[in-house]
Amino acid sequence: MIEDRIYAAKSILVVGAHAFDAEVMAGPLAAAAVKRGATVTFLHLTMGEQGHPYLVPAHYCVQKEEEAGSAAERLGVAMRSFGLRDGFLPTDDQTALEVADIIRELKPEIVITHWHGSWHKDHRAAAHLTKTGIFFAGLPTVASDHPAHTPQLLLFGENWEDDDGFRPEHLVDVSDGFEAWRDAVMEYELARGLSSFPYVDYYSSLYRLRGCLRATRHAQAFAAASHSWNAGSGLFSLPFGKGSGR
Ligand SMILES: [Zn+2]
Repeated sequence: MIEDRIYAAKSILVVGAHAFDAEVMAGPLAAAAVKRGATVTFLHLTMGEQGHPYLVPAHYCVQKEEEAGSAAERLGVAMRSFGLRDGFLPTDDQTALEVADIIRELKPEIVITHWHGSWHKDHRAAAHLTKTGIFFAGLPTVASDHPAHTPQLLLFGENWEDDDGFRPEHLVDVSDGFEAWRDAVMEYELARGLSSFPYVDYYSSLYRLRGCLRATRHAQAFAAASHSWNAGSGLFSLPFGKGSGR
């Protein structure tokens, strides 16, 4: 069961386009995994600094860095940020190599990112960068400060903006992490009423709804990568397996 594999992981990496995306796609799961002894890292590719109605991006960026740091502390996760420009997230190989380097450094068994079917170009870019980053991270011929590493599992989190074709294939019990998630997201002005979208209502209800189907209090849904992508990227190779499976 995927849930057992997730909670057996020592290292989990969540890649979000904007600070706050990782929190909604995998915040409750992260808090629950940390309680079970995992190290979880949120990589925010941009801070999402264009999203304030009256603060200029440079000022809102500072605010979001502080909010993201406080949220990470409440969840017990580590935080990395690339500081790329919100709205202009690139999809080039150089940026994917930087994601690859983080993957090699942290050696996650599980990587979670956006589903590619999103209205938001940065979310589509984040999905692309993460998949390409995993590809580069596993190539021994790509030199970096860290040896090649291939995660065992890539999952796509549920995000209201990424609903085009998203299928909730796996439901993971995150009941243990829900309260920490709620406290964490309230660190963000975005969750306290800045946006016209009722984030906390939406995601609290969504996790409860998924929990009803999982027969737990709260659950998060994830989509899986295609069989060909998993096979081609060498995912699903067991840690004790011989070779990369490539
Ligand atoms: Zn976003």
